[in-house]
Amino acid sequence: MPLVSIADLARPPEELAPLRQQARGLSELWNAFVLQDGEAYSYTVSKQGESSRGGGIHASEMSECMLRLVYSILGIERRHIKEVNDYNMKMRFKAGDALHAMVQSDFARMSDWYTREHRDQGLALSFESEVRITPEFYAVAQEWGINSGCDGVFTFWHWDGTQWVAYLRVGVEIKSSSALEYEKRKGPEGKHAKQACLYQKCLDLPLMWTIYYNKSNSNYTTPTMPWLFDFDEKLWEEELEMRFRTAYEHVRTQQMPPRNEGHHCRFCPFTHHCGPEVLKRVQPQKGISAGLRVLP
Ligand code: SF4
Repeated sequence: MPLVSIADLARPPEELAPLRQQARGLSELWNAFVLQDGEAYSYTVSKQGESSRGGGIHASEMSECMLRLVYSILGIERRHIKEVNDYNMKMRFKAGDALHAMVQSDFARMSDWYTREHRDQGLALSFESEVRITPEFYAVAQEWGINSGCDGVFTFWHWDGTQWVAYLRVGVEIKSSSALEYEKRKGPEGKHAKQACLYQKCLDLPLMWTIYYNKSNSNYTTPTMPWLFDFDEKLWEEELEMRFRTAYEHVRTQQMPPRNEGHHCRFCPFTHHCGPEVLKRVQPQKGISAGLRVLP
C-alpha cells in the first residue's frame, strides 16, 4: 500500500507503519552515503534575486505582517533591500544558500547510489530539488495564486513487473541554524511549520521532514517526531486558508491592513513602498554608502 498522497494518510496505521519506518530511515541512509562518498562531485549554488520573484502568495508570507502578503498579491514591485546596513547578516544568508545546495546535492547523489544498490531488488529512490509551485502546475496554487518553491521531495519506487511505481513520498525543508539556536530547538518553528503545510497541500505530500542543520558541528534533526510530520489539515484550513481569505478581502476592498512592524521588516521586499517607521536612516558605515538599521 502506498503513502504518496495526503489521502493515503487515512489508511490503517498498521499499513502505514512500515512506510513511516522507511521514511525515518532517510537519515541513516544519508549517514551511510556520506561515509562511503569518495567520488569527485560538484554542485551549483543558485539564488533567485528578490526583484525577479513573481507576485502572488509566497511561503515566506505565511506569518507576521498581513500587509506584506497583500502587497505580494497586488504584485507591488519587490526590491532587494540593499540599504540594510548588515553585511554580516547577508553573509550568513549566503552561507545558508550554500548549505542548502550541499544538502540537496547529497540527497540527489544519495538517491542515485541507493538506486544502483537496490535496482536488482526492484527498488529505487529519486530526489527532486527546488520543486517550483506555480498556478500553472498545481490546482491549489491556482486557487490561491501561490508562487513558491519547496527544497525537495524524495520518492521511493518499486518495480511491479512492467513499470516503476511510486510508493512513498517525503518532502524536505532545509534550515541552517547557529549552534545556539540549534540547541534550543524543541520542534519546527511555527512559521516553518506553516511553510511546510503550504508545500504539502500544493504538492499533495503526506510527510514532511524539516531539517535544521547546525552550522557549527553538522548535527541535524533526523526524520523522527517532531521533525517528520504528517500534513496538518487543521493548520491548513484554520490558519492558512483563513489568512489567504483575509488577504484577498483586503485586495478586493482596497482597504490595506495596518503595518505590523518589527524585526521582520529588515527582510521585507516592500519597505520602499511601505516605509515602516522601524527602519530609519543612520550615518553610513565605513565602506557602505548608505544604511538603514532597526531601531530598538
Ligand atoms: S515593511 Fe514591515 S510593516 Fe511594511 S509591509 Fe513589510 S513587513 Fe509589513
